[in-house]
Amino acid sequence: MQENCIFCKIAAGEIPSATIYEDEVCRVILDIAPAAKGHAILLPKKHFANIFEIDKETAGSILYTASRVAAAMKEALGCDGINLLQNNGPAAGQTVFHLHIHIIPRFENDGLLPTWEQGSYADGEAAEVAQKIQNCLK
Ligand code: 5GP
Ligand code: ZN
Repeated sequence: MQENCIFCKIAAGEIPSATIYEDEVCRVILDIAPAAKGHAILLPKKHFANIFEIDKETAGSILYTASRVAAAMKEALGCDGINLLQNNGPAAGQTVFHLHIHIIPRFENDGLLPTWEQGSYADGEAAEVAQKIQNCLK
């Protein structure tokens, strides 16, 4: 547990929350300022600031849990779709620096999340960019 991390305290149950699910790896709670009713956040119990720090076991476990909660949310709320959203770093919109996955119920035309303008690659550029990233895979 990280000192002064609110999500560590919530995940550990030290601060009460509207909990949907809990196991030894994570807790899933309702977001306090939801994009839509039912918007949940999944908090690993181990502190990772972001995706760059996560370990393989936690990564596997939390994605599986997110899939189960998403299915439950679809059935319970009758939503048309679900976004999993996971922000890393202030530039990507992260405001709480304990890794979490947003699970957001979506309804047709709810306009909740912006869509981006689709870009393109010049000839050969996609292969170059893919290679550049691949070279840094650990
Ligand atoms: P981020 O922008 O870092 O991806 O998302 C942080 C999210 O955590 C926000 O959606 C915010 O509403 C939620 N949040 C921040 N503090 C609390 C809290 O104390 N309790 C709960 N349930 N959600 C929180
Ligand atoms: Zn933490």
